[in-house]
Amino acid sequence: MSQPRHLSSSQTVELFQRYVIPNYTRYPLNIVRGEGSTVWDSEGQRYLDLFPGWGCNLLGHCPAPVVEAVQEQLRTLIHVPNTWHMDLQGQWAQMLSERSFGGLAFFCNSGTEANEAAIKLARLHTPPERYKIITFTGGFHGRTMGSVSATAQPKYHEGLGPLLAGFVYAPYGDLDAVRKLIDAETAAIMIEPVQGEGGIRIPPEGFLQGLRQLADEHGLLLIFDEVQTGCGRTGNWFAYQHFGVTPDVITLAKALCGGLVGGAMLTKSEIAPSLRPGMHASTFGGNPIAARAGIAALEMMEREKLLDNARRLGEIFRQRLEALRQQTDVIVEVRVLGLMIGVELRVPGAPVVQACLERRLLINCTHGTVLRLLPAMNLTAAEAEEGCDLLGKAILAVAG
Ligand SMILES: *Cc1c(COP(=O)(O)O)cnc(C)c1O
Repeated sequence: MSQPRHLSSSQTVELFQRYVIPNYTRYPLNIVRGEGSTVWDSEGQRYLDLFPGWGCNLLGHCPAPVVEAVQEQLRTLIHVPNTWHMDLQGQWAQMLSERSFGGLAFFCNSGTEANEAAIKLARLHTPPERYKIITFTGGFHGRTMGSVSATAQPKYHEGLGPLLAGFVYAPYGDLDAVRKLIDAETAAIMIEPVQGEGGIRIPPEGFLQGLRQLADEHGLLLIFDEVQTGCGRTGNWFAYQHFGVTPDVITLAKALCGGLVGGAMLTKSEIAPSLRPGMHASTFGGNPIAARAGIAALEMMEREKLLDNARRLGEIFRQRLEALRQQTDVIVEVRVLGLMIGVELRVPGAPVVQACLERRLLINCTHGTVLRLLPAMNLTAAEAEEGCDLLGKAILAVAG
């Protein structure tokens, strides 16, 4: 096989300026290879990646069992339409069902699509006059028109109106506000059990239980967007399993296929038939490659006991970052659930991300002031310690 010849980082930046729509703010690096929690740029520099694939690479870059399964599947069957049965899609659905609440799956290709399916399901499952969905400030549900309308953050709406009708926004964590917003037209409540883009917001005690109660009282669907929190990220298969609440619907993507493309919506078996034949579809959804990757990812997590590892690593990060908080007053709060890690600063986070980059550490900043790490669950303890050392130096350097 011929080795691709890489362009330099600056040549690549030029190419993008000429040919790629500039809808992202990108770092001026050309990333050409990844393995585990390390990536390399075209200049041969290596970086420790504590934000691999924006949460998609929960098993690190190019996890061998997923790579091998997919290579074999590529030679066997790549795609058939959903007008046929595929044993792999059925087996994948079974594995997801057995690790969640025993429901049924619809497969798609991304988080926003999974949420679109959930929005349609909520409208189809409830009487026709019920179309409103309550969502939460600081939430994030994706970029297609339905999901972006569900996203209660004005910065994502600028210039896009009119949005899809029917979304009403409640302050995150405020049960009374939710109660007041429910009326005869409400169909569902939709929430991330832990907000991701909103800054790793862990729900206040009793909040998710309260939503379950309200949903039951009023006959609403309770939808958890687990696109970021799901598939092992928090040290459980799904984040709802931390809170003693079972939602009616969960949506998944990001880490679902071990770094490959895939999305899913799971719902209880009594609700599933509301998404009746003809009312929804996804051409590539649940294709054999995604299914093979999804199955291989779940098997790898089990075989290598990576849920336990995620919890253990989360505790290392918690301890190290709490210790750092004692050293500097720029850190307001450290929030950790498994491998969802947020460090809220008193100052903008962008300079810290830059200072990390200069130290060859990749992290993210969200919501302006929250440093976010979404490390791989097969990160080593030594890599976690190294990452905390570098992050600490970067924060202290910026704090001055
Ligand atoms: C990333 C994300 C999405 C959107 O997923 P895409 O695959 O980019 O469409 C939706 N919801 C949550 C919670 C996310 O983190």
